[in-house]
Amino acid sequence: MLTGRRFRVEFTGEQTAFAERIGAACRAVWNTGLEQRREYRRRGAWMNYQPQARELAEAKTEHPWLRDVPGHCLQQTLMDLDRACREHGTFRVRWRSGRRWSPSFRFPEGNKMAVEKLNRRHSRIKLPKLGWVKLRMSRPLTGDIIRSATLTREGRHWFISVLVDDGRLTPEAHPAPGTAAGVDRGVVAAIATSDGALIDRAFTTAGERRRVVALQRTLSRSAKGSANRDRARAALAAIRARERRRRLDFCAQAAHQLAAANSVVVIEDLKTKQMTKSAKGTLEAPGRNVRAKSGLNRAILAKGWHQFALALGSAARYTGTAVVVVPAAYTSQRCSVCKEVDPKSRESQAVFRCIHCSHTEHADVNAAKNILAAGLAVTACEDQPRPAGRARSPKQEPAGNREELLLQPTIAAPAA
Ligand SMILES: [Zn+2]
Repeated sequence: MLTGRRFRVEFTGEQTAFAERIGAACRAVWNTGLEQRREYRRRGAWMNYQPQARELAEAKTEHPWLRDVPGHCLQQTLMDLDRACREHGTFRVRWRSGRRWSPSFRFPEGNKMAVEKLNRRHSRIKLPKLGWVKLRMSRPLTGDIIRSATLTREGRHWFISVLVDDGRLTPEAHPAPGTAAGVDRGVVAAIATSDGALIDRAFTTAGERRRVVALQRTLSRSAKGSANRDRARAALAAIRARERRRRLDFCAQAAHQLAAANSVVVIEDLKTKQMTKSAKGTLEAPGRNVRAKSGLNRAILAKGWHQFALALGSAARYTGTAVVVVPAAYTSQRCSVCKEVDPKSRESQAVFRCIHCSHTEHADVNAAKNILAAGLAVTACEDQPRPAGRARSPKQEPAGNREELLLQPTIAAPAA
């Protein structure tokens, strides 16, 4: 099945400069293409990928800097723009600012990339125009069929994400049939399971938090465009990137553990995006309830709920686990023993004490049990014989965009 492998890249000085140039060209193509699309929309017309790709080919004869960079990366940028505009609307797609956007571009033709092992720690991959690029082999890449590769700069370092077909298939049945767990993605601990386990880790150290405060102070005191400001900004970005990597690692490991041990994993549909949206707003129109929401938002985002859901979907493909998504309503206010719903039962963030049957439990574990019960109710309905042609196995996911798959609940809950 299709999966991603990410490696840190060790460019030569020349390659770094060239990669920056490719990124800059892709950014220019994106912004020009977006401006053109907006111009057309203002006149009530549409601009699509095909004419834009033709115009790009013409522009190459005039601008040597466009000829210099790999053509496929530029075409891919236009395709990405096309998809973004279709999905989100031309006026909601963002500009790529030189300061905010970190360069990223994709080489679509994986069959033209060769991988060679250099030593125990390093390999090299051959990319169009960039030539042989040295990688830190933090995990194996041999035996996989490469589909595409994306280069991204994160802080000072470049990374390559290789989309590969690893030739493995989702097992027909989970090795431990009949096992099931409910998962609550809490604020106290990142993850609570219906077995009573609380899985969590710190994503920043105390020293890092102190350093962030000091850097933010430097940033606010330094003059705009000064070298000091750039240095502070880069240092901040490096700390945030480290935090992000730890979070990804945590999500992947927790998801793997849960999927390996359970044939059914039930999670709640939290719609993280909607919960965090209203506080953002813009400079002109700040979101409502900004102060009230920002603390919770930070907690939600910091614990990486969305990332965990993605990681779980990905891990489940390898174990044959069915991921069931249930609505989140009342899971934190319902007693897992007597099933009574009462907001007063939720004594604090951490403690649930039922006011009807006085059942006492960690609030997130209680919620996880409710989630499991809701999920099992859904799978029980699903197991009823249904008319031919309508049967659908929750275990089988077609290979494709994992993110899209996950947004569609594996098993839709019956309408209330
Ligand atoms: Zn109760």
